[in-house]
Amino acid sequence: MSIFTKNVRETKKTKDVSASVTKELKKSAENACIKTKENFIKEHGTAQEAMEPRFRKEIHFKNLEVLDYDAYKARFPGHPMAVIGNHSVEDGKSYLREVESDKVRQAAVHETIHDLSYGEIRKNNDITAVNTGLREYKYQILPDGRKKILEDRARAFNEGYTQLLTGRELKRQGDSEAFTSFRPYSETKRQAAQLESIVGKEKMERAYYLGEKKELVHEFNRLNKSECAWDNFCDDTEIYANNPPSSFRAAAGTRINETFARMQEAKTQETR
Ligand SMILES: [Zn+2]
Repeated sequence: MSIFTKNVRETKKTKDVSASVTKELKKSAENACIKTKENFIKEHGTAQEAMEPRFRKEIHFKNLEVLDYDAYKARFPGHPMAVIGNHSVEDGKSYLREVESDKVRQAAVHETIHDLSYGEIRKNNDITAVNTGLREYKYQILPDGRKKILEDRARAFNEGYTQLLTGRELKRQGDSEAFTSFRPYSETKRQAAQLESIVGKEKMERAYYLGEKKELVHEFNRLNKSECAWDNFCDDTEIYANNPPSSFRAAAGTRINETFARMQEAKTQETR
């Protein structure tokens, strides 16, 4: 859900840093968010009837907040310094941290795309489940108030695909400054692009925006001739995204590449 940058300026906690976020910065984040939603409606609103239910859902155009350093830290105490944005699974709102304007605009687009792909929250007593894009997230609030994660599938891969869509949207907005300001999730973004080129844009978008994942998963498993191919792939992309270079990580990378090669080969066979 979060977006990070490696080269963000480290700001010391001094009095002037906690000064309120400038109107200009808020405005530019808001504009990026609104344009993203408008373009989304333009692209999918009338062209694809099947996507209609998505648009009947109310789209909040200003579901986004820019917080200064202290306020962001207070709201997300566990976030490392590099994290500059977050789409909250709990309340469905996007929060951005005050950094340079071009980075804030990119983060605004990224978090807005999470917002557009945010599913219904399902609650069952102390268990909450929500799907965001391709990610399936389920947690339980324990009696002592702690949060226990029960399931978190396709988190890393979902970030990669979100970032692929973010890049396209920034190009649409003609905002090359924001596009080049930082490049998060570059590995998983590449993997997402690879999968999209094999299964096609429509299956990916339907799974991502409408939560209709069955077709995508079915096609993925069919091409791999294995019922657990998608689950294994999600596990491997998670390992690959979250570990420093090691033989463990490299093995996951090899399995991911083999998976793509197998799918590509199956596709080629079919079109012969
Ligand atoms: Zn994200």
